[in-house]
Amino acid sequence: MVHKHLMWAVADVMGDAVTGGAAAWDEVYWLKAGALITSERALYAAAELGSADVWGAWTVVRKIRETDDVVTFVVQRTDGRRAKPSLSGQYVSLKALMPGGVHQPRQYSLSRADDGRYRQFTVKRVHGQATPDGEVSNLLHSGVGVGDEVLLSAPFGDVVLQSTVRPVVFASAGIGVAPVAGMLSHLAEAGSLRHITVLHADNSAGSYALRDQVKADLDRLSRASSLTWFLEPPADAQPGSGFTGFMDLDTVELPADAEYYLCGPLPFMRAVRSSLIGRGVPARDIQCEVFGPDLWLADVQ
Ligand SMILES: Cc1cc2nc3c(=O)[nH]c(=O)nc-3n(C[C@H](O)[C@H](O)[C@H](O)COP(=O)(O)OP(=O)(O)OC[C@H]3O[C@@H](n4cnc5c(N)ncnc54)[C@H](O)[C@@H]3O)c2cc1C
Repeated sequence: MVHKHLMWAVADVMGDAVTGGAAAWDEVYWLKAGALITSERALYAAAELGSADVWGAWTVVRKIRETDDVVTFVVQRTDGRRAKPSLSGQYVSLKALMPGGVHQPRQYSLSRADDGRYRQFTVKRVHGQATPDGEVSNLLHSGVGVGDEVLLSAPFGDVVLQSTVRPVVFASAGIGVAPVAGMLSHLAEAGSLRHITVLHADNSAGSYALRDQVKADLDRLSRASSLTWFLEPPADAQPGSGFTGFMDLDTVELPADAEYYLCGPLPFMRAVRSSLIGRGVPARDIQCEVFGPDLWLADVQ
């Protein structure tokens, strides 16, 4: 199907500018497709999954309103079987059935450590500015509730928390808190003794999703602390309780030899990453979870 429509679009958009002839484009297409199909099979093999085990039906058991634009879904396998545990920081793909009958897949980070029974992910509703509203996030917000079924993949993703004893620093902005909350929850469940710093930037305290969960997990950890940056500070803000404006690490003391996990909009991650590199943090110790194609890293690595 991709071949048919892509080849049609190439001919339609490029017209006479297409060189090399249809056979050459066809060959390139199948070389690339073959490589991607092989990579996908390798991912399933590494996760010890047959292709029939990748997707499963899950039932929504709780829908939690976090903020005006963010909801958290807690789901349970519909067939009652236990699920393969996720690694800390992974995401699932969700195949949403759209009104036209097409399935649209999107990725959502697991925002809490799963226990083999329940799984949790958190979705921000995407408002288009001059563009249409996000299709799947809006459908999940307004069309999926408790008792409904969703089709989820097994967990995947390379940005996972390393099991070391080194200090760990999380820096997130907006919905980037989702994988960070997931990793923090794993650390809290394990009773980690690691030195943990949670840095988060948001528009306001009211738009900070998963805030209560993050706070509860910080309270369970003996060596954890957090700092926040809000564009609009709370009216009752206590001196020293947080910063106003964009996240700025220049004035923040960071632990030596830490691992860093970043998630948020691209300009945020670029700025934080540059600041850390400027302070001498080795690039290998900074991992970024990008909520979309990660081509931007090709420019900076
Ligand atoms: C690894 C990973 C983890 C993720 N984790 C999370 C998470 O935990 N929580 C979360 O909320 N999201 C997460 N995401 C993002 C999520 O997968 C979706 O991309 C997001 O929900 C938007 O999907 P959508 O269908 O609502 O938007 P889409 O319909 O895909 O639209 C995306 C953007 O394209 C614009 N657009 C649509 N149509 C047009 C058009 N014709 N012309 C121009 N622009 C257009 C829209 O305005 C919007 O800005 C993650 C992504 C990845 C890759």
